[in-house]
Amino acid sequence: MDVVAAHPDKFRVVALTANRNAKLLKEQAGRFRPDVVAIGDAAFKGGLSGISAKIKTGKEGIIEVAREANAELVVVAIVGAAALAPTIEAIKARRDIAIANKESLVMAGGIITALVREKNVGLIPVDSEHSAIFQCLKGHEKKELKKIYLTGSGGPLKDISQREFDGLSIARIISHPRWKMGRKISVDSATMMNKGLEVIEARWLFDVRVDDIDILIHPQAIVHSMVEFIDGSILAQLGITDMRLPIQYALSYPRRIQNSLPTLKPSALTRLTFERPNFKKFPCLSMAYGAARSGGTMPAVLNAANEEAVKLFLSRKIKFSKIPQLVERALSHHKLTPSPSLELILQAERWAREEVHKEVKL
Ligand code: MG
Repeated sequence: MDVVAAHPDKFRVVALTANRNAKLLKEQAGRFRPDVVAIGDAAFKGGLSGISAKIKTGKEGIIEVAREANAELVVVAIVGAAALAPTIEAIKARRDIAIANKESLVMAGGIITALVREKNVGLIPVDSEHSAIFQCLKGHEKKELKKIYLTGSGGPLKDISQREFDGLSIARIISHPRWKMGRKISVDSATMMNKGLEVIEARWLFDVRVDDIDILIHPQAIVHSMVEFIDGSILAQLGITDMRLPIQYALSYPRRIQNSLPTLKPSALTRLTFERPNFKKFPCLSMAYGAARSGGTMPAVLNAANEEAVKLFLSRKIKFSKIPQLVERALSHHKLTPSPSLELILQAERWAREEVHKEVKL
């Protein structure tokens, strides 16, 4: 919304959605004057009284907005698996997609990318690393790409020993050293599952094998990712750690436009370091690679089990160290379907969520 507000001559918001935050939705509707809004949880509709936009409710309401709003571009910024259905419907309606949600690609990347090709729409990454890769690849053919280096700051637990994890407060675990983000993704950043999900996200967005994607821990978070080409050249995208930058690029693509954000001063950069992640300390990374190699329904199970485990952790029902254990358990018990339909993916997803809850109740 900040990016749109900074460029009133270039963008107009025609629709907005929220899940439960009616207060913020009402405030934004007053400011940006969309034609229509949707609130995912109908119980919160009362909080929207007095706005001039048409109001839709429920999951269906959000899907209708994604499909029917008079938009050129749909920005998908819903958290978690809930983004999948609205994303698919928006693609079917031939809207270009700026995708900030990684879970839908993790679950159903094959289906989404096939549909994107069939409908000939744009799928523009918002995730900062993927935006960096997307920018580096502009003007190049896929066959020229050799390797992707996905960078990550290492998360809030990089310098804390694994033994101490369970003694940390939730506030400490979700306090990210570089990026300001929501609670779910902040926990994913602490377990490093976020980076694992991003590997799978990149695999689909750029149509590469997961084994051609390497994670590099880069605590300064200045290089947002790099690509290596077949001639050995490496291109990187550098910038400040502010999500308004990749968001703006997704909105203005294929052009670049000005803004008033602070800029990176190369002369102030004294040290940029890159190292391999610690797979032992952060087992979610290996699980994500494993699930991606298995393919089929496995990434959906990884994602759903993780979402449930994170929710349980945030509601103080399990310890931090239990998150990877619950995901591992769901993965090892899952019977893989190799080329699943959307229906089978959703079925595997539900199964994984139940599996996590079965284990925690014991
Ligand atoms: Mg990211």
